[in-house]
Amino acid sequence: MQIVNRVSEMQSIADSLRKDGKIISCVPTMGFFHDGHISLMKKALELGDILVTYLFVNPTQFAPNEDFSKYPRDLKQDTKIAEQAGVHYLFCPEVEDMYPGGFNSSVHLSGITDKFEGKLRPTHYIGVSTVVAKLFNAIKPHVAVFGQKDYQQTLVIKQMTKELLFDIKIVVAPTLREPDGLAMSSRNIYLNPEERKFAVIIYSALNDATQAIMNGESRRKIINGVMHNALRKLSSIKIDYASAADSDNLDEPDEFKPGQKVVLLVAVYQGRTRLIDNALVTIPGK
Ligand code: AMP
Repeated sequence: MQIVNRVSEMQSIADSLRKDGKIISCVPTMGFFHDGHISLMKKALELGDILVTYLFVNPTQFAPNEDFSKYPRDLKQDTKIAEQAGVHYLFCPEVEDMYPGGFNSSVHLSGITDKFEGKLRPTHYIGVSTVVAKLFNAIKPHVAVFGQKDYQQTLVIKQMTKELLFDIKIVVAPTLREPDGLAMSSRNIYLNPEERKFAVIIYSALNDATQAIMNGESRRKIINGVMHNALRKLSSIKIDYASAADSDNLDEPDEFKPGQKVVLLVAVYQGRTRLIDNALVTIPGK
Protein backbone atom coordinates (compact mmCIF):
# COMPACT_ATOMS: atom_id res chain seq x y z
CA MET A 1 0.00 0.00 0.00
CA GLN A 2 1.26 3.45 -0.86
CA ILE A 3 0.44 6.51 1.23
CA VAL A 4 -0.17 9.62 -0.84
CA ASN A 5 -0.17 13.05 0.80
CA ARG A 6 -0.20 15.46 -2.13
CA VAL A 7 -3.21 16.14 -4.35
CA SER A 8 -0.95 16.58 -7.39
CA GLU A 9 0.71 13.20 -6.75
CA MET A 10 -2.69 11.53 -6.42
CA GLN A 11 -3.77 13.04 -9.73
CA SER A 12 -0.65 11.76 -11.54
CA ILE A 13 -1.15 8.29 -10.07
CA ALA A 14 -4.80 8.33 -11.16
CA ASP A 15 -3.84 9.47 -14.67
CA SER A 16 -1.35 6.65 -15.14
CA LEU A 17 -3.74 4.05 -13.69
CA ARG A 18 -6.41 5.19 -16.11
CA LYS A 19 -3.91 5.14 -18.98
CA ASP A 20 -3.21 1.51 -18.09
CA GLY A 21 -6.92 0.77 -18.30
CA LYS A 22 -7.39 0.20 -14.57
CA ILE A 23 -10.76 0.71 -12.91
CA ILE A 24 -10.25 2.96 -9.88
CA SER A 25 -12.63 2.56 -6.95
CA CYS A 26 -12.58 4.80 -3.91
CA VAL A 27 -13.91 4.94 -0.37
CA PRO A 28 -14.08 8.42 1.18
CA THR A 29 -13.65 8.43 4.97
CA MET A 30 -12.66 10.56 7.93
CA GLY A 31 -10.56 7.70 9.31
CA PHE A 32 -10.54 6.01 12.73
CA PHE A 33 -11.45 2.86 10.88
CA HIS A 34 -13.95 0.31 12.16
CA ASP A 35 -15.49 -2.73 10.50
CA GLY A 36 -18.06 -0.54 8.72
CA HIS A 37 -15.25 1.24 6.86
CA ILE A 38 -13.58 -2.10 6.11
CA SER A 39 -16.83 -3.47 4.64
CA LEU A 40 -16.90 -0.47 2.26
CA MET A 41 -13.29 -1.15 1.27
CA LYS A 42 -14.11 -4.82 0.57
CA LYS A 43 -17.06 -3.77 -1.57
CA ALA A 44 -14.90 -1.26 -3.45
CA LEU A 45 -12.25 -3.91 -4.08
CA GLU A 46 -14.90 -6.05 -5.78
CA LEU A 47 -15.91 -3.14 -8.01
CA GLY A 48 -12.51 -2.01 -9.29
CA ASP A 49 -8.91 -3.01 -9.93
CA ILE A 50 -7.31 -0.38 -7.72
CA LEU A 51 -8.72 0.88 -4.43
CA VAL A 52 -7.95 4.36 -3.17
CA THR A 53 -9.13 5.05 0.36
CA TYR A 54 -9.42 8.72 1.16
CA LEU A 55 -8.72 9.69 4.75
CA PHE A 56 -9.37 13.32 5.54
CA VAL A 57 -11.08 14.89 8.53
CA ASN A 58 -12.68 17.67 6.54
CA PRO A 59 -12.84 20.86 8.61
CA THR A 60 -15.44 22.53 6.41
CA GLN A 61 -18.20 20.04 7.19
CA PHE A 62 -18.00 20.76 10.92
CA ALA A 63 -19.71 23.84 12.33
CA PRO A 64 -17.64 25.88 14.83
CA ASN A 65 -19.53 24.32 17.78
CA GLU A 66 -18.99 20.74 16.51
CA ASP A 67 -16.28 18.18 17.29
CA PHE A 68 -13.66 18.81 14.55
CA SER A 69 -10.71 19.27 16.93
CA LYS A 70 -11.58 16.28 19.10
CA TYR A 71 -12.73 13.99 16.26
CA PRO A 72 -10.88 10.67 16.87
CA ARG A 73 -7.73 10.19 14.80
CA ASP A 74 -5.24 7.31 14.68
CA LEU A 75 -3.27 7.34 11.45
CA LYS A 76 -0.88 4.58 12.52
CA GLN A 77 -3.69 2.14 13.29
CA ASP A 78 -5.66 3.22 10.20
CA THR A 79 -2.62 2.58 7.99
CA LYS A 80 -2.35 -0.95 9.38
CA ILE A 81 -6.07 -1.63 8.92
CA ALA A 82 -6.13 -0.23 5.39
CA GLU A 83 -3.12 -2.31 4.40
CA GLN A 84 -4.73 -5.47 5.79
CA ALA A 85 -7.98 -4.67 3.99
CA GLY A 86 -6.15 -4.63 0.65
CA VAL A 87 -6.17 -0.87 -0.02
CA HIS A 88 -3.71 0.07 -2.77
CA TYR A 89 -3.42 3.80 -2.06
CA LEU A 90 -4.25 5.60 1.17
CA PHE A 91 -4.76 9.23 0.20
CA CYS A 92 -4.38 11.53 3.22
CA PRO A 93 -3.92 15.11 2.05
CA GLU A 94 -3.04 17.99 4.34
CA VAL A 95 -5.71 20.62 5.04
CA GLU A 96 -3.45 23.26 3.42
CA ASP A 97 -3.25 21.22 0.22
CA MET A 98 -7.03 20.75 0.03
CA TYR A 99 -7.82 24.34 1.04
CA PRO A 100 -4.87 26.54 0.14
CA GLY A 101 -4.94 30.19 1.20
CA GLY A 102 -7.53 32.11 -0.77
CA PHE A 103 -9.65 29.02 -1.42
CA ASN A 104 -13.05 30.44 -2.17
CA SER A 105 -15.25 27.89 -3.96
CA SER A 106 -18.09 25.70 -2.80
CA VAL A 107 -20.58 23.22 -4.19
CA HIS A 108 -24.05 23.98 -2.89
CA LEU A 109 -27.03 21.74 -3.65
CA SER A 110 -30.60 22.74 -2.87
CA GLY A 111 -33.61 20.62 -2.03
CA ILE A 112 -32.39 17.49 -0.32
CA THR A 113 -29.88 19.50 1.73
CA ASP A 114 -32.58 21.69 3.27
CA LYS A 115 -34.05 18.83 5.27
CA PHE A 116 -33.12 16.85 8.42
CA GLU A 117 -29.29 17.02 8.82
CA GLY A 118 -29.07 19.96 6.44
CA LYS A 119 -31.73 21.90 8.33
CA LEU A 120 -30.01 21.42 11.68
CA ARG A 121 -26.46 21.80 10.31
CA PRO A 122 -26.85 24.39 7.54
CA THR A 123 -23.20 24.38 6.38
CA HIS A 124 -22.63 20.64 6.71
CA TYR A 125 -23.58 19.48 3.22
CA ILE A 126 -21.82 22.40 1.54
CA GLY A 127 -18.66 21.11 3.22
CA VAL A 128 -19.44 17.52 2.22
CA SER A 129 -20.32 18.15 -1.42
CA THR A 130 -17.35 20.49 -1.90
CA VAL A 131 -14.83 18.06 -0.44
CA VAL A 132 -16.31 15.11 -2.33
CA ALA A 133 -16.19 17.06 -5.61
CA LYS A 134 -12.54 17.83 -4.88
CA LEU A 135 -11.66 14.25 -3.99
CA PHE A 136 -13.37 13.05 -7.16
CA ASN A 137 -11.11 15.39 -9.13
CA ALA A 138 -8.06 14.25 -7.16
CA ILE A 139 -8.64 10.48 -7.24
CA LYS A 140 -10.49 10.37 -10.58
CA PRO A 141 -12.37 7.21 -9.59
CA HIS A 142 -14.74 5.20 -11.76
CA VAL A 143 -16.67 4.02 -8.70
CA ALA A 144 -17.15 5.46 -5.21
CA VAL A 145 -18.62 3.54 -2.28
CA PHE A 146 -20.55 5.30 0.49
CA GLY A 147 -22.34 3.88 3.54
CA GLN A 148 -26.08 3.78 4.02
CA LYS A 149 -25.26 4.81 7.61
CA ASP A 150 -25.15 8.42 6.35
CA TYR A 151 -28.31 8.04 4.32
CA GLN A 152 -29.01 11.66 3.47
CA GLN A 153 -25.37 12.08 2.45
CA THR A 154 -25.80 9.31 -0.15
CA LEU A 155 -28.73 11.23 -1.67
CA VAL A 156 -26.68 14.43 -1.73
CA ILE A 157 -23.73 12.72 -3.43
CA LYS A 158 -26.00 11.00 -5.97
CA GLN A 159 -27.70 14.31 -6.80
CA MET A 160 -24.36 16.11 -7.15
CA THR A 161 -22.89 13.37 -9.32
CA LYS A 162 -25.93 13.35 -11.59
CA GLU A 163 -26.50 17.09 -11.86
CA LEU A 164 -22.84 18.11 -12.20
CA LEU A 165 -22.14 15.24 -14.63
CA PHE A 166 -19.43 13.45 -12.68
CA ASP A 167 -18.87 10.24 -14.63
CA ILE A 168 -18.65 8.16 -11.46
CA LYS A 169 -20.81 5.28 -10.29
CA ILE A 170 -22.06 5.77 -6.73
CA VAL A 171 -22.57 2.56 -4.76
CA VAL A 172 -24.25 2.47 -1.35
CA ALA A 173 -23.23 -0.29 1.05
CA PRO A 174 -25.23 -1.49 4.07
CA THR A 175 -24.66 -0.37 7.66
CA LEU A 176 -22.51 -2.62 9.81
CA ARG A 177 -23.69 -2.99 13.38
CA GLU A 178 -22.30 -4.08 16.72
CA PRO A 179 -23.73 -7.40 17.98
CA ASP A 180 -26.42 -5.56 19.98
CA GLY A 181 -27.50 -3.54 16.92
CA LEU A 182 -25.76 -0.19 17.51
CA ALA A 183 -24.50 1.13 14.16
CA MET A 184 -20.71 1.21 14.09
CA SER A 185 -19.35 4.74 14.15
CA SER A 186 -16.04 6.42 14.89
CA ARG A 187 -17.99 8.60 17.35
CA ASN A 188 -19.07 5.60 19.46
CA ILE A 189 -15.71 5.97 21.22
CA TYR A 190 -17.11 9.10 22.91
CA LEU A 191 -19.75 7.03 24.74
CA ASN A 192 -19.09 6.05 28.36
CA PRO A 193 -19.95 2.40 29.24
CA GLU A 194 -23.43 3.28 30.48
CA GLU A 195 -24.24 5.45 27.44
CA ARG A 196 -22.86 2.75 25.15
CA LYS A 197 -25.02 0.08 26.76
CA PHE A 198 -28.23 2.04 26.31
CA ALA A 199 -27.43 3.46 22.86
CA VAL A 200 -28.98 0.30 21.47
CA ILE A 201 -32.33 2.01 22.02
CA ILE A 202 -31.80 3.76 18.66
CA TYR A 203 -31.85 0.40 16.90
CA SER A 204 -34.92 -0.65 18.92
CA ALA A 205 -36.74 2.51 17.85
CA LEU A 206 -35.99 1.77 14.19
CA ASN A 207 -37.12 -1.83 14.64
CA ASP A 208 -40.34 -0.80 16.42
CA ALA A 209 -41.23 1.57 13.58
CA THR A 210 -40.33 -1.02 10.94
CA GLN A 211 -42.59 -3.49 12.72
CA ALA A 212 -45.43 -0.97 12.90
CA ILE A 213 -45.16 -0.44 9.14
CA MET A 214 -45.06 -4.18 8.48
CA ASN A 215 -48.21 -4.45 10.63
CA GLY A 216 -50.01 -2.00 8.35
CA GLU A 217 -49.24 1.47 9.73
CA SER A 218 -48.68 4.02 6.99
CA ARG A 219 -49.50 7.34 8.72
CA ARG A 220 -46.26 9.29 9.07
CA LYS A 221 -47.05 10.93 12.40
CA ILE A 222 -47.96 7.59 13.99
CA ILE A 223 -44.75 6.01 12.67
CA ASN A 224 -42.74 8.95 14.02
CA GLY A 225 -44.57 8.58 17.33
CA VAL A 226 -43.49 4.94 17.60
CA MET A 227 -39.84 6.00 17.30
CA HIS A 228 -40.24 8.91 19.72
CA ASN A 229 -41.95 6.69 22.28
CA ALA A 230 -39.13 4.14 22.13
CA LEU A 231 -36.42 6.80 22.41
CA ARG A 232 -38.14 8.70 25.21
CA LYS A 233 -37.79 5.65 27.47
CA LEU A 234 -34.23 6.81 28.04
CA SER A 235 -33.84 10.16 29.79
CA SER A 236 -30.23 10.61 28.58
CA ILE A 237 -31.43 10.72 24.95
CA LYS A 238 -32.20 14.06 23.34
CA ILE A 239 -33.96 13.69 20.00
CA ASP A 240 -32.89 15.90 17.08
CA TYR A 241 -35.25 14.03 14.77
CA ALA A 242 -36.84 10.61 14.47
CA SER A 243 -38.85 10.73 11.28
CA ALA A 244 -40.13 8.69 8.39
CA ALA A 245 -39.68 10.12 4.88
CA ASP A 246 -39.78 9.07 1.26
CA SER A 247 -36.44 7.36 0.63
CA ASP A 248 -35.83 9.06 -2.74
CA ASN A 249 -36.48 12.70 -1.92
CA LEU A 250 -37.09 12.82 1.87
CA ASP A 251 -40.59 14.21 1.33
CA GLU A 252 -42.92 13.82 4.30
CA PRO A 253 -46.49 13.03 3.19
CA ASP A 254 -49.19 12.59 5.83
CA GLU A 255 -49.63 9.02 4.70
CA PHE A 256 -47.31 6.74 2.71
CA LYS A 257 -48.68 4.76 -0.21
CA PRO A 258 -48.57 0.97 -0.65
CA GLY A 259 -45.25 0.04 -2.26
CA GLN A 260 -43.64 3.37 -1.29
CA LYS A 261 -40.05 3.10 -0.06
CA VAL A 262 -39.58 4.84 3.25
CA VAL A 263 -36.48 5.74 5.20
CA LEU A 264 -36.65 6.00 8.97
CA LEU A 265 -34.13 8.63 10.02
CA VAL A 266 -32.90 9.10 13.56
CA ALA A 267 -30.47 11.64 15.01
CA VAL A 268 -30.10 11.86 18.77
CA TYR A 269 -27.72 12.96 21.44
CA GLN A 270 -26.85 10.15 23.81
CA GLY A 271 -25.34 12.23 26.58
CA ARG A 272 -23.02 14.61 24.69
CA THR A 273 -22.50 12.33 21.70
CA ARG A 274 -24.52 12.85 18.56
CA LEU A 275 -25.48 9.58 16.85
CA ILE A 276 -27.37 8.98 13.61
CA ASP A 277 -28.92 5.84 12.19
CA ASN A 278 -31.60 4.84 9.71
CA ALA A 279 -33.56 1.94 8.26
CA LEU A 280 -35.22 1.37 4.91
CA VAL A 281 -38.65 -0.19 4.73
CA THR A 282 -41.26 -0.61 2.01
CA ILE A 283 -44.91 0.05 2.80
CA PRO A 284 -46.62 -3.32 2.26
CA GLY A 285 -49.54 -3.95 -0.02
CA LYS A 286 -48.48 -3.53 -3.64
P1 AMP B 1 -16.92 8.46 8.18
O1 AMP B 1 -15.47 8.11 8.30
O2 AMP B 1 -17.69 8.26 9.44
O3 AMP B 1 -17.15 9.80 7.53
O4 AMP B 1 -17.54 7.39 7.19
C1 AMP B 1 -16.94 7.11 5.95
C2 AMP B 1 -17.88 6.23 5.16
O5 AMP B 1 -18.13 5.05 5.91
C3 AMP B 1 -19.24 6.89 4.90
O6 AMP B 1 -19.68 6.57 3.59
C4 AMP B 1 -20.11 6.27 5.95
O7 AMP B 1 -21.48 6.22 5.59
C5 AMP B 1 -19.53 4.87 6.03
N1 AMP B 1 -19.86 4.24 7.31
C6 AMP B 1 -19.80 4.80 8.54
N2 AMP B 1 -20.25 3.94 9.47
C7 AMP B 1 -20.59 2.81 8.82
C8 AMP B 1 -21.14 1.55 9.22
N3 AMP B 1 -21.43 1.28 10.48
N4 AMP B 1 -21.36 0.61 8.26
C9 AMP B 1 -21.09 0.88 6.95
N5 AMP B 1 -20.57 2.03 6.52
C10 AMP B 1 -20.33 3.00 7.43
